Amino acid sequence: MTNIKHSWAEPYKIKMVELLKMTTASQRKKAMKEAGFNTFLLKSEDVYIDLLTDSGTSAMSDRQWAGMMLGDEAYAGSRNFYHLEEVVKEVYGYKYLIPTHQGRGAENILSKILIKKGDIIPGNMYFTTTRLHQELAGGKFEDIIIDEAHDPENEFPFKGNVDLNKLQKLIDKHGAKKIPYVSMATSVNMAGGQPISMKNLKELRALTKKHGIRVIHDMTRVAENAYFIQQKEKGYQNKSIKSIVKEINSYTDGATMSAKKDALVNIGGFLAVNDWDVFEEARNMVVVYEGLHTYGGLAGRDMEAMAIGIGESVNDDHIKARVGQVIYLGEKMLEYGVPIVKPIGGHGIFVDAKKFLPHINQDQFPAQTLAAEVYLDAGVRTMERGVVSAGRKANGENYYPKLELVRFTIPRRVYTQAHMDVIAESVARVYERRNKIKGMKMIYEPKYLRFFQARFEKL
Ligand SMILES: *Cc1c(COP(=O)(O)O)cnc(C)c1O
Repeated sequence: MTNIKHSWAEPYKIKMVELLKMTTASQRKKAMKEAGFNTFLLKSEDVYIDLLTDSGTSAMSDRQWAGMMLGDEAYAGSRNFYHLEEVVKEVYGYKYLIPTHQGRGAENILSKILIKKGDIIPGNMYFTTTRLHQELAGGKFEDIIIDEAHDPENEFPFKGNVDLNKLQKLIDKHGAKKIPYVSMATSVNMAGGQPISMKNLKELRALTKKHGIRVIHDMTRVAENAYFIQQKEKGYQNKSIKSIVKEINSYTDGATMSAKKDALVNIGGFLAVNDWDVFEEARNMVVVYEGLHTYGGLAGRDMEAMAIGIGESVNDDHIKARVGQVIYLGEKMLEYGVPIVKPIGGHGIFVDAKKFLPHINQDQFPAQTLAAEVYLDAGVRTMERGVVSAGRKANGENYYPKLELVRFTIPRRVYTQAHMDVIAESVARVYERRNKIKGMKMIYEPKYLRFFQARFEKL
């Protein structure tokens, strides 16, 4: 029998379980109303399958839990810091490490050091906290991702690529001196977890080197990006995830990391740079915003769990199962005809709300509406990534992003394949009754990162 499928399965077994509360339709209706139709404001207890984010929601391994017991909680010079520093150097290849409480702590410090008022920061699509810190430091973000990334139907395998012509135009227009660095993300979150290719990265390195511009890497999901390079880019099939990750990093000058994603911990992050001067300033600044430079707002035990998690995150079997589960869910949704961003990305499924609810215009928040409907059906919590997340420009106007998506983010090592079936079937049911769904209006809007706390009413 040569045509029997060779399925992947999880390279781990379950040692402990967390019991979930099952809710009724009327309980969910009440909970959603109390949350102002914003899934961020739901109580986690009222959620059955939580796909709000893959941030800090991973299941740690027994080795990581054992590492927690080895926490050295000294104020200065914790041994866990030195272990983490060694792992970051060994696995990621960056020279100097500044631990931070999470990714945005690193973004804050880095933006303050490198950006001057009036600077331009080109990047392969924005990320919410990243762009905000760039703006708060006086810079202006310019999107230089390839056009394909804005088209949810386009199946180009590396939609995270930088459009080098767009970058060249910015250099010609503003001059390289006005561009402190290119903000390059792997597995571009807002485009649907889309990877950047090694070829594109090499070209980006060559162009930026010519002009003396740094490349700063948002490496939150670098291992997932490495998986797509291994699977889809010529010449990488026989290379390990670990070696691909290291090669990616070698074309950059430094990185901000939210360890709550790839690195399999519930809290943590860091700034890593190769440049001694930047490191020195960052080491000084971390004391103001995070904590001493050998803990940066983290407990010793958290740094230990992170050090161990980083090692596990670049294991080939781990990443194959992690992305395999995401692809399983995406293919299931496609079977039901649900419009999703293609190709399927590395950390979640992004449902195209404009296509799903074409009768709702962007001022009535189609993705926000869809996220609420999905919760109401079976208790699956997702997140809006559209006009609400995009926020307002400095002049107060709304950003109207081309992509209006609902993100189904899969926590690492947490849910089973049966959960994936329940999710796909629930979305299919909502899709069946899509024509009856009405949009919403915003009744409360916070000033910063409004998607976290905004409240809505059904029209
Ligand atoms: C989560 C995330 C961040 C911010 O990290 P936090 O740990 O949430 O502060 C930055 N960039 C990307 C791509 C992310 O996904």
